[in-house]
Formats: sequence, structure tokens, C-alpha cells
Amino acid sequence: MKKMQSHIEDIYLNKDSKRSEAENIWWLMEETGELLRALRKGSDQEIKEEFADTLAWLMTIASNRGIDLEDAFWERYKSGCSKCNCKPCKC
Ligand SMILES: [Zn+2]
Repeated sequence: MKKMQSHIEDIYLNKDSKRSEAENIWWLMEETGELLRALRKGSDQEIKEEFADTLAWLMTIASNRGIDLEDAFWERYKSGCSKCNCKPCKC
């Protein structure tokens, strides 16, 4: 993720950091809607593209907060389920 997030920062952070967080979240929600539509009736290629776009907006929002998503992910899920700490989850 670190490599993907820094790649997205190189492309968009200058532009995306000028937008409010609420606006960037709006774009994330719009991409999430496109992902849902693709999952329902899109081609395999469209589904892959919408997953990538949705992830890119999530990374942008994290970057604007100074959060490294890979670090955040491993901090939360390193030992397994975030609630029971088991892998696989036993909740
Ligand atoms: Zn669990």
C-alpha cells in the first residue's frame, strides 16, 4: 500500500489537498457508487477500474490527514481480527 499511496500522492496530492476533506469524501462516495454499479452489471475490466478508483480516493483522504494506510492497516489487523485477535476470526 505504501507504494500505491505514494504513487497516488505524486499524481494527485497537490490538487486533492486544496479540496476540503468533505469534498474528497464526496468523491470517494461517488466512486463507491460506481463500484457498486460495476459489481452489479459491469465488465470484469470495469469492476477492476472501479476498485482502483475507490482505493485511490481512500488513499487521498488518508494522505491529506498524514495517515499511511498500510501502517494503519497493520496496526489494526496485525494479529488477526480487530476484536478477537484471532485468525481466522472467532467472533
Ligand atoms: Zn473476531
